[in-house]
Amino acid sequence: MTDAASGITPKRFLFLFSDTGGGHRASAQAVKDEMARLYGDAAVVEMVDIFVEMRRWPFDRFPQWYPIVVGLNGIPWHVGYHLSDTMPVVKLLSGAVWPYAGPSLCSLLEHHPADVMVSFHGVPNAALLFARRKLALRNPFAIVTLDLVSVHAGWFTPGAHLYIVPTEAARQRALRAGVTPQHIRVIGMPTRRAFVEARDLSQTKARALLNLPQDRPVVLMVGGGEGMGPLVPVVRAIARRKPNAHLVVIAGRNQALYHALRTLDVPVPLHVEGFVSNIAVWMRAADVLVTKAGPNTLSEAFIAGLPLVLYAAIPGQEEGNILHVVENHAGVWAPKPEAAADAVMDLLAHPAQRAAMAACSQALARPHATEEIARHLWDLQR
Ligand code: UDP
Repeated sequence: MTDAASGITPKRFLFLFSDTGGGHRASAQAVKDEMARLYGDAAVVEMVDIFVEMRRWPFDRFPQWYPIVVGLNGIPWHVGYHLSDTMPVVKLLSGAVWPYAGPSLCSLLEHHPADVMVSFHGVPNAALLFARRKLALRNPFAIVTLDLVSVHAGWFTPGAHLYIVPTEAARQRALRAGVTPQHIRVIGMPTRRAFVEARDLSQTKARALLNLPQDRPVVLMVGGGEGMGPLVPVVRAIARRKPNAHLVVIAGRNQALYHALRTLDVPVPLHVEGFVSNIAVWMRAADVLVTKAGPNTLSEAFIAGLPLVLYAAIPGQEEGNILHVVENHAGVWAPKPEAAADAVMDLLAHPAQRAAMAACSQALARPHATEEIARHLWDLQR
């Protein structure tokens, strides 16, 4: 059967992600939108939060617990991440939870049949491969890896048909985990099309759209989808230095942070937003981005060509992102609020240095990655 409008035979895709952080959904949605752009109604994409949809405690609480666990000074997460970061441990843990989680996972896959199955998460892949064997599923299975450098072993459980990775460092990690080279494609991180489109927007226009001043630099601050890390001390430290700049903070879904920032008494203009859907325009309007080292935000900032000040990184998966940024001269690592503020002041005072860093940031951009990923997934054959 072919789609009447496009003349293409429709395909059903199951995109498995979870709202543990903002990045998995943002990436899956970006690829879904790109498929709609390329293939119209012929691409039928269903997005499922795998942990929530398993309807099994404690998995269904993972999205709520994630910011708390990661935020506890990072220590429990750091320990858990590194202890579990080998293929034997991934398989052991997945095997240990299988008797409890397996039936719900199998039931989820039975309720969401698809021609192509895609995982946008690192944790459930070994269990998904168990479930596929149990159900004798023959449809192609792809994993779209969403960390730039220090990619957890869970992403690379061998047995999937395609592993899409963002960098050569990630490809090396996949090879070490036992994935065969012909199953790996180095493409880039999926980012929303809005970031590519925003490149046609002048900074002046972007600022006009956002009611931002035109007469001084804009410093944008963001802590991922959940507003993570010590953003209040960072904002305070920057504001104390009274930069001749307009400060903007995007608090994401972190309501407590949003309210704390709204009532913060600082000696310079401070603009605070909650979760915004037009972050591409905010990035276009900005001159410097102060951010947690989240892989999605970084990939978006590369497309926007923004110099970066990294004030925090989630232990484990985001540590490699720091190296990626610093070694490529796209930004600086400034994990203490005072250091972050000094780095911002330095960039504001030296426009030439800022421009050089912006160019290095842009050199890391993979603006067409999403389109390439969508095409690869579409071309997977049963
Ligand atoms: N984001 C957004 N609106 C906001 C805050 C964040 O759309 O108000 C998006 C951001 O553009 C990025 C994602 O949320 O795509 C955050 O992903 P990242 O990997 O940087 O960090 P995470 O939240 O997964 O820890």
